Amino acid sequence: MDYEGFFENELETVRDEGRYRVFTDIKRHRGRFPHATRFLEGSETQAVTVWCSNDYLGMGQHPAVLEAMHSTLDECGAGAGGTRNISGTNHYHVELEAELADLHGKQSALLFTSGYVSNWAGIGTLAARIPNCAVFSDELNHASMIEGIRYSKAERRIWKHNDPEDLDRHLAEFDADRPKLVAFESVYSMDGDIAPIAEILDVCEKHGALSYIDEVHAVGLYGPRGGGIAEREGLMDRIDVIEGTLGKAFGVMGGYIAASRNLVDFVRSFASGFIFSTALPPAVAAGAAASIRHLKTSDRERELQKERVETVRRKLDMMGIPHLANPSHIIPVMVGDAHKCKRISDWLMDNHGIYVQPINYPTVPVGTERLRLTPSPVHTDGDIDRLINALSEIWSQCELARMATAA
Ligand code: PLP
Repeated sequence: MDYEGFFENELETVRDEGRYRVFTDIKRHRGRFPHATRFLEGSETQAVTVWCSNDYLGMGQHPAVLEAMHSTLDECGAGAGGTRNISGTNHYHVELEAELADLHGKQSALLFTSGYVSNWAGIGTLAARIPNCAVFSDELNHASMIEGIRYSKAERRIWKHNDPEDLDRHLAEFDADRPKLVAFESVYSMDGDIAPIAEILDVCEKHGALSYIDEVHAVGLYGPRGGGIAEREGLMDRIDVIEGTLGKAFGVMGGYIAASRNLVDFVRSFASGFIFSTALPPAVAAGAAASIRHLKTSDRERELQKERVETVRRKLDMMGIPHLANPSHIIPVMVGDAHKCKRISDWLMDNHGIYVQPINYPTVPVGTERLRLTPSPVHTDGDIDRLINALSEIWSQCELARMATAA
């Protein structure tokens, strides 16, 4: 086979479809985020403002997080030195797991190297190891959950997005005694909509199904202590497994599940994605713990973020720039064409140093291409005005439709 030719052809197809991914080479500057430096070909650089980061609260530069990471790096050195079972369990991992269990009101928590791995290993292990388990997955679940289900080889059903009645219908087709696992998210990252968690849990309880929620885009951001939407709605104790990331609102990296002592111990004992992978560096664990601790008691970042999100939405409305109405912090600005979406993103960057990644297929369906804005407490009024004015200009250039509310 002509391997090189094959790779080239496949890449050409992706390019033709306007969904070839080009990474933007930036350097963030501590204390100045969302401002960063972009590296271009050669030695050229450009000052940019990041509008698409999942460091939703700017915790990646919070002094408490940095201080914990610096001091732990000096105290413990760079890496963990092994898998958790073979000399890699550092006291900072143990402390972080206790912090996470407390955050979600669960008996235990288990750390993974990312949110992706926690979903893949968590769902994969439960669905593969619980005898004859059937999995019921929301149709818009993240790739990491889908891969976990695939890996498990368990029988699966896809239920309509955020539709507890459809879930109920699917569950009713299975034997009452059959083990079942229902997997869904709280905040869906591309549309920013929020699941009807209480209704989904009613259905799970009615059918004796385990419930598994991904709160990756909610932890740190919602609830009085940053425990997520389930905490905000007083539902954490009704959910069997809460999964989250340390890489978005908590500003560091890593993933976890929080659940009963036995369930967590079960995953710890059987999940290959946990057992056979080097543990997170102790400094990362210490930084994440500091971030969680801070957000358990400080509402300031959440309040500021809410206000920034409202301001951006209001100003988009004033310009008639279409964005999905949703109850979360994610603002999808709808373009509806892959090539235009890429062109707008490039133009914003090249002309205004505004960095917002185009979101194209397969991340979202064809025809719903968008720019996904994530305002944070660290965006100033000036940053917002520059963004809105630039968007308005390119909207006219591309002859894109405006909403009727245009000023
Ligand atoms: N779950 C959802 C819903 C996500 O959007 C993501 C990542 O974007 C993940 C899980 C994976 O989390 P991580 O980035 O920590 O691997």
